[in-house]
Amino acid sequence: MGSRISIERNQNPKQKPDQRHLGFGKYFTDHMFLMDYTKEEGWHEPRIVPYAPLMLDPSAMVFHYGQAVFEGLKAYKTKNDDILLFRPDKNMERLNISNERLNIPPIDEAFLIEAIKELVSVDRDWIPVAEGTSLYIRPFIIATEPGLGVRAATQYTFIIILSPVGAYYPEGIKPIKIHVENKYVRAVRGGTGFAKTSSNYASGLKAQINAAEQGCSQVLWLDGVERKYIEEVGSMNVFFKIAGEVVTPALNGSILDGVTRDSIIRLLEAWGVPVAERRISIDELYSAYTHGTLEEAFGTGTAAVISPIGELQWTDKRIVVNKGEIGNISKRLYDTITRIQSRQIEDTFGWTVEVGAIRVP
Ligand SMILES: *Cc1c(COP(=O)(O)O)cnc(C)c1O
Repeated sequence: MGSRISIERNQNPKQKPDQRHLGFGKYFTDHMFLMDYTKEEGWHEPRIVPYAPLMLDPSAMVFHYGQAVFEGLKAYKTKNDDILLFRPDKNMERLNISNERLNIPPIDEAFLIEAIKELVSVDRDWIPVAEGTSLYIRPFIIATEPGLGVRAATQYTFIIILSPVGAYYPEGIKPIKIHVENKYVRAVRGGTGFAKTSSNYASGLKAQINAAEQGCSQVLWLDGVERKYIEEVGSMNVFFKIAGEVVTPALNGSILDGVTRDSIIRLLEAWGVPVAERRISIDELYSAYTHGTLEEAFGTGTAAVISPIGELQWTDKRIVVNKGEIGNISKRLYDTITRIQSRQIEDTFGWTVEVGAIRVP
């Protein structure tokens, strides 16, 4: 596996953090993966090296024009000490979709999965085992070419870093409060909403702070044209159960195609629960609420898997969902996906991918 990848071992491994207080993205492992791109050589010199700060020219284009894309997925240790990735092919496919939109040269997807496996294998002792914990994997690409001309760069670096992360819900799943954003928008059709690019996040921060000031933990984004149709919630896709049917906004070019979103749609279909990908307006949601047919609401993403929504604040209106408690479908989806990810139940979909044993250096 991955014989083209060179490995330089970290001679000063760090002390590992307490598995009970990991939080999210606070600690990083002993190694990282790097690979460079130039016009002449293409993607070259894949290498695993000790985790360390990068040296970049201050004129590196990423600092000025934001040419950057990223991914997020997790590795899980099973009871038998096997290491599993969850649908890494979907993430790497999406990375190249983001690359295409940002004019970053594509990378061979099978090789990317090998690179992830190799790095995770080198730092396998960092994978936490406590219930709900995992190793978060953050692949990303930045434009490194020096220069201030506005154009697509000709030099890039692809990097993978790893972070042991804690249980998202250390005290059990708690539904969140959401602020429906009326002033700012996250994305528009024709923009970069479907790409996982850093600038989408930078432009969303102001609304996020706004929401926090109103006592909400996330923003519900409406569409950028009519400010009417529901798009996403924070950095998650969003689902509603209305009169027995589970509804999620259809992919329209401004919504991110989440791996968790896709897994949920496929699980619901397998269970025979009606599920629809379509446009849904905030007025329709409010009307369902007033008619008593809004049964559940939840956000979905790799970090939390399922994040139940207990209340939405829309202008001066309050939409309380399922008395502020997690719903049955939300709970069943959360339990099923997390158990598939850690092989506590059989993976009938073929979603999990094993990280093999470490290569003898
Ligand atoms: C990453 C992300 C998601 C969730 O995608 P997953 O693949 O399920 O983790 C949803 N929305 C946005 C904007 C994202 O960046």
